[in-house]
Amino acid sequence: MEFIDRILTCADCGGEFIFTAGEQLFFFDKQFKNDPKRCKPCKSKRSGAALKTGTGPAAAGLSRTETRTECSACGIETTVPFKPTQGRPVLCRQCFQSKRAPTTGALVTAAATAEMVAGVGPEHTAVSAELLTTAHATQA
Ligand SMILES: [Zn+2]
Ligand SMILES: [Zn+2]
Repeated sequence: MEFIDRILTCADCGGEFIFTAGEQLFFFDKQFKNDPKRCKPCKSKRSGAALKTGTGPAAAGLSRTETRTECSACGIETTVPFKPTQGRPVLCRQCFQSKRAPTTGALVTAAATAEMVAGVGPEHTAVSAELLTTAHATQA
């Protein structure tokens, strides 16, 4: 089969471009059934746009299920492979691991401190509430 250069009209800019014999051979080889619709500049413009649309969260190295959040223990920004429930603590990998399997004394101390700090608020409130109730009861 022989190919000769053909003049085609670009669907984008309306300009004429040459569909060369070599390109026809390539198309034939790849079993592409349709002639190219666009000239080279328009084609590269299109593929450039396609590349740009690809820079979403997926391109940034995050999978769709990963959610950006803050670690409840140390406060650093982290990503978790699930959607965190509102109000529930989310731990970064390091804190999660140090809580689950403390391997060194430093990590244990850090985890314990975090737990103590976290425990201060609610416990304090509870004690105050109790004291208030007692005071109230004594008064009554
Ligand atoms: Zn064109
Ligand atoms: Zn953390």
